[in-house]
Amino acid sequence: MKNLKKICFICGKEKSGGIILKDKLICESCEKKIVNLEPGNDFYEYYKNKIRAIYKGSSDYRKRMGE
Ligand SMILES: [Zn+2]
Repeated sequence: MKNLKKICFICGKEKSGGIILKDKLICESCEKKIVNLEPGNDFYEYYKNKIRAIYKGSSDYRKRMGE
């Protein structure tokens, strides 16, 4: 039996469960953190940017960040 473990895209920890966004894993605890975060929280921007990076595609995102 295969027990596939992946590294969470946000916290960097090895997790066996969670959600997959565009082939990136977000573990359950990070998902809960994101859901419960309020705008203005330092981590809110951090997580938001991480997720935005997944959706936008890294090359386009990096170009924007470099400007
Ligand atoms: Zn995580």
